[in-house]
Amino acid sequence: MNETLKIAVQKSGRLYEGSMKLLKECGIEVSNGNNQLRVIAANFPVEIFFLRDDDIPEYVQDAVADIGFVGENVVKEKNKEVDIIEKLGFGKCRLSIAIPKTGVLQSLNDLNGKKIATSYPFYSFLFSQRKNIQASIHEISGSVEIAPRIGLADAICDLVSSGSTLFTNELKEIETILFSESILISNKTLTAEKKIILESLRFRLSAVKKAKNNKYVLLNAPNNKLDTIFGLLPGMKKPNNSAISGRRLEFCSFCNKRKRFLECD
Ligand code: ATP
Ligand code: ZN
Repeated sequence: MNETLKIAVQKSGRLYEGSMKLLKECGIEVSNGNNQLRVIAANFPVEIFFLRDDDIPEYVQDAVADIGFVGENVVKEKNKEVDIIEKLGFGKCRLSIAIPKTGVLQSLNDLNGKKIATSYPFYSFLFSQRKNIQASIHEISGSVEIAPRIGLADAICDLVSSGSTLFTNELKEIETILFSESILISNKTLTAEKKIILESLRFRLSAVKKAKNNKYVLLNAPNNKLDTIFGLLPGMKKPNNSAISGRRLEFCSFCNKRKRFLECD
């Protein structure tokens, strides 16, 4: 049987671009040109499902999708039975408590007996319990930042990245309760065949990550300066050093295998 791995990504929104770019960097060709809900990759055994990000943890739990790219904030909030596999390096933000810049509230302790508006009721409640704050959590689905201004709540718990939305709404961040980014989650009971596809995808993901973190530097230098140069170069491994007399060797920075001889001038 030839199975495919079903990957859930956000249909539109802040994670869409990052998810599609990552798949492309992994060499997986998909197009969502016709705004389809599901597409099959041309050159890798995966199907992509385009969904609302809030639904992804549940769909992965229920095996509607096998894996998903979704914000850790959503995974923590939805609290579904899924495996967290790895961070994906995009969609970075933080879930924070914010209060009006001016007013009676000054710190977390002042939130006792007060109302916090949020789209993250479960995680906010857990946080308030952990900090022993007796606040009432008021769930709203959007425009959380205006809640204090319109008298709906005293404080908010919302996602922040640059902080400009808080600034515009005259709010200040007093506590970060979660640093989040996109993560790869998986269904807990993948078939052996799907696990193999996932491993192969993860291999590609790690190659993409490595490529982003590495620079290939090639230079010719006198022998008596090599130790000084190695000391200056950051890196996981000692750089390759090949003696040259008329020709020099070039090595692959990932596998260290010799790539070719170049004529030196
Ligand atoms: P959907 O229609 O899929 O439900 P949405 O409106 O809930 O979309 P977006 O605003 O597109 O969601 O945000 C998706 C995710 O992007 C968030 O859950 C979070 O992980 C991440 N993110 C990164 N920066 C921010 C930010 N400044 N504000 C909100 N989300 C952010
Ligand atoms: Zn959403």
